[in-house]
Amino acid sequence: MEKKTRKISVYFLAAEAVPFIKVGGLGDVAGALPQALKRLQKPNGSLLTLDIRVAIPYHFAIDQKYKEQSPVSSFSITRGNLQYPIKVFEKIIDGVPFYLFDSDLIGKTEKVYNLDASMDGDKFTLFSLAALRFPQLIHWKPDILHINDWHTAIAAHINRMDSRREKIPFSILTLHNLPFMGAGIESSLVKFRVPPSDDPDLPEWARILPLPMGLASVDRIIPVSPSYAREILKKDAGCNLHFFFRKNDAKITGILNGIDPETWNPQTDPNLAQNYGIDDLSGKAQNKRTLQAEFHFSKQDDIPLLIMVSRMDTQKGVDLIVDGLRMIAETPWQAILLGSGDPNLEEACLALAKIFPKRIRAILRFDSQLSHRLYAGGDILMMPSRYEPCGLSQMIAMRYGCIPVARSTGGLKDTISSHPLKEKTGYLFSHAKPADFSKALLTAISDFKNCSRWEKIQQNAMQKDYSWDQSAAEYARVYLEVIDKGKEQ
Ligand code: ADP
Repeated sequence: MEKKTRKISVYFLAAEAVPFIKVGGLGDVAGALPQALKRLQKPNGSLLTLDIRVAIPYHFAIDQKYKEQSPVSSFSITRGNLQYPIKVFEKIIDGVPFYLFDSDLIGKTEKVYNLDASMDGDKFTLFSLAALRFPQLIHWKPDILHINDWHTAIAAHINRMDSRREKIPFSILTLHNLPFMGAGIESSLVKFRVPPSDDPDLPEWARILPLPMGLASVDRIIPVSPSYAREILKKDAGCNLHFFFRKNDAKITGILNGIDPETWNPQTDPNLAQNYGIDDLSGKAQNKRTLQAEFHFSKQDDIPLLIMVSRMDTQKGVDLIVDGLRMIAETPWQAILLGSGDPNLEEACLALAKIFPKRIRAILRFDSQLSHRLYAGGDILMMPSRYEPCGLSQMIAMRYGCIPVARSTGGLKDTISSHPLKEKTGYLFSHAKPADFSKALLTAISDFKNCSRWEKIQQNAMQKDYSWDQSAAEYARVYLEVIDKGKEQ
């Protein structure tokens, strides 16, 4: 019997997307997931045709070259007697249109995210409003509005609240980072006349914050790992929205993020001193030596090279790394810490590097090229996150045979297997304490010295499939479920 092909259209909104701009994992996800969803519709018998399009703000830091073509749409958002002109530029990548929304307010601040959220309020509120208006102007009728985190949550909120406009029938929110709810942007909401949420399940303090507004408006909430989906039902990880989540448990589905297997492939990665694969790890050793030379460390294969590639944030446990490394100073190791963010944590890393000048380097910047080389040359990735909705760094590291030592939380718990040896891909510890972290690190270092054991762990890790294909299929299933359920009602 011939099956009918389903056709659905999805409008995907995010604050950042690779290859245009990336600050953290959200950028990877917004770049890769739409492409993976698009790939699902292969002609060989697949039953789903997806028209997926992505909208992001035209940030100051995005290459200006996309403005060289004429905009696909120019319009204004009007509030009272003020008009905010918007231009939308398009770039199609592998069949997926990416729309870049440009306006004075959107491109105003140099940084994508500012430590002071109030500086981001106008940018993301205007972007959300403009992105919501845009489909009508190009006569496109998406079935699903798919938003990500607080920056785009207002779009789903207005989509539900504003009875004057034509609605996008269904909506989904992928939850990458719950604690960032958009607090501090209240004046922007007033300026753009965004009303508070009227959802009685939300505590009163949350009804004026973008992320809760979005959570209350969507048909489905997708935390980025199954464990994180369970953790947010509890008070701590739930950031005091645990009652809301418990009440709305039926609309929560955890789906793991994936990594782009083309970008993160040690066999073809153009950034490496030498490419390598699972069958011949000698190339990995060469990458380590190159790093040791570059950072003026002693060139010794038998000393483990520890790496960190992370935003500098207390979430990521950078302080645990600083204190934990001091606790195991007697053990030979070398460490390269790459990251930027919280000035206090940056300072702490620099101070540590000053104490151990021969074996620690702190590189305080965002450096994609160096990150590739660190995953390739590093033996152990340190990732002692206090909470981790999904985490991409550990998946990338495993693909490069760099073994993670991580806290047992959220997506780290879901992606790293710590035993038995035949499945082992890394090390997990429970408490966010320097002593617990350094103990796990010492266990990893001891295994590192056992070459056959270590190689087995590396092989297990490199064999893991964290590509987007499986997660994209799960997203597609959720899209169909949401639409079908909506039609039944
Ligand atoms: P989060 O999204 O919370 O920042 P993830 O682990 O999900 O953390 O994703 C982080 C992504 O950003 C990974 O691709 C990692 O390699 C990259 N990254 C983080 N900090 C840096 C940095 N300083 N330089 C280069 N890449 C970085």
